[in-house]
Amino acid sequence: MLLEVRDLHVEFRTRDGAAKAVNGVSYAVDAGETLAVLGESGSGKSVTAQAVMGILDSPPGRITGGEVLFQGRDLLTLKEEERRKIRGAEMAMIFQDALSALNPVLTVGEQLAEMFIVHRGMSRGDARAKAVELMERVRIPGAAQRVRDYPHQFSGGMRQRIMIAMALALEPALIIADEPTTALDVTVQAQVMDLLAELQREYRMGLILITHDLGVVADVADRIAVMYAGRIVESAPVHDIYKAPAHPYTRGLLESIPRVDQKGRELYAIQGLPPNLMNIPPGCAFHPRCPMAQDVCRTDTPPLYEVADGGSGGGVGGGGGSGRASACHFWRECLDDRS
Ligand code: SF4
Repeated sequence: MLLEVRDLHVEFRTRDGAAKAVNGVSYAVDAGETLAVLGESGSGKSVTAQAVMGILDSPPGRITGGEVLFQGRDLLTLKEEERRKIRGAEMAMIFQDALSALNPVLTVGEQLAEMFIVHRGMSRGDARAKAVELMERVRIPGAAQRVRDYPHQFSGGMRQRIMIAMALALEPALIIADEPTTALDVTVQAQVMDLLAELQREYRMGLILITHDLGVVADVADRIAVMYAGRIVESAPVHDIYKAPAHPYTRGLLESIPRVDQKGRELYAIQGLPPNLMNIPPGCAFHPRCPMAQDVCRTDTPPLYEVADGGSGGGVGGGGGSGRASACHFWRECLDDRS
């Protein structure tokens, strides 16, 4: 397995107490696989990714438990210097806002070339040639000329392509893309997502795609992990989730996607707001918003149940494996409702 996150816990210390941002997250990604991590803002999806990358804002953030096994090594036990070597070379990140992630006073060519000079010891001329090659690879028209341009001279979609090029430069084994297309319009969003999927297949990288939009992952992800209040509440192969979600929260997210075959239908909205992470509701954290909630949901925290096909089976699953899992006491009823 390329990456295995096991029982990760992260909290943020504030003057008013600890905000429990990640509460026992486990997931795994293999080479050539795409895992989409989905959830509203504050669900812990980006904080988990930052802990994996070793770029958590600390303090106030603090990893309070768990393991991050990358190619068999627990990254959480490594010194910062060792982690820095891994970042960029073995795992890279694509951020939502390319304009603030790129250096505004250096040309994109200089920024791309720098990676080859620092990490590969290339001459300036060779590194520049590699920069042009990479820009062509992510289909920037006129790459040989545009290599001299600054980030602000590119459109949002083109800047995002440059971010992809920077992430790919050293051919890392794993890329984490945090909302890579959120700031783009729908057409450009699809183009960037297609490019990312194509390059991921070609380079056989593991890809973690963080998003709040279930609509953008259908064609690119192999598996989906849905997060709520710092936990994974459902984990499954992508087609299973679209066919029949086994958690009411996932079902709400699916029903809130506009569909062309249901014109005129009023869009569903999940009631209420995500919980305050300093005061997560007891029992199932989703219960105040859940249309299926029962008394037991208010007191007993659902474990991640293994979801068997056809609604039979059960028991407590670890999640993040190759099957399906749902943190809902009533996952069978949820499945039956939809399938
Ligand atoms: Fe809803 Fe209860 Fe399932 Fe939580 S455990 S998602 S409250 S039905």
